[in-house]
Amino acid sequence: MNEAYISLGSNMGDKEETLRHAVQLLQQHPAIMVVKLSSIYETDPVGYTDQDVFLNMVILVHTPLAAQELLEECQKVEQALKRVRVIRWGPRTIDLDILLYNHDNIETETLIVPHTRMHERAFVLVPLVEIAPELKHPTIGVAFQALLEQVGKEGVRRWKTATDLSGFILSKGSKNSLS
Ligand code: ATP
Ligand code: MG
Ligand code: MG
Repeated sequence: MNEAYISLGSNMGDKEETLRHAVQLLQQHPAIMVVKLSSIYETDPVGYTDQDVFLNMVILVHTPLAAQELLEECQKVEQALKRVRVIRWGPRTIDLDILLYNHDNIETETLIVPHTRMHERAFVLVPLVEIAPELKHPTIGVAFQALLEQVGKEGVRRWKTATDLSGFILSKGSKNSLS
């Protein structure tokens, strides 16, 4: 079984519902088991700042899928949720990025793991360190906790604690609340 950390972000529409839906779609996949959820954080946009605040979280999944296959499943979830809203050229409904896949170092045309910019993003590091406080960046060799101290937590506010995320992980095979 492989361990992968996935970052989820949404800044359009009902953001919490979108995150919940994305987690449930992953969990419904027979080969993906969602095993940990961070809290949800409200984060100020980085880069292109003239857009709404984001909700971000990080999850840990266990899967027998190869990294590339997991990426394809993440992209299917993005496609499924983008179809729900039809504002063209608008901000993203949902973004799913694979942060880490075991301790692997992967560089293909479509997939780079560890995610290239993860170590400089407070909106990734804060939720990651919450669920994996001891984890080290596999190629930089520095604890994510230490990387977070360098980056700082500015612009990242806890919005809903992990224990309040009831209904985020449905049992395997459950199909309700996705309609
Ligand atoms: P950023 O990567 O800076 O967070 P983004 O998430 O907005 O930007 P996307 O438009 O979601 O970028 O993805 C662009 C491409 O990135 C995807 O088509 C995918 O093939 C590629 N990609 C490379 N590495 C990864 C990864 N670790 N997780 C997800 N996508 C990745
Ligand atoms: Mg991204
Ligand atoms: Mg992405």
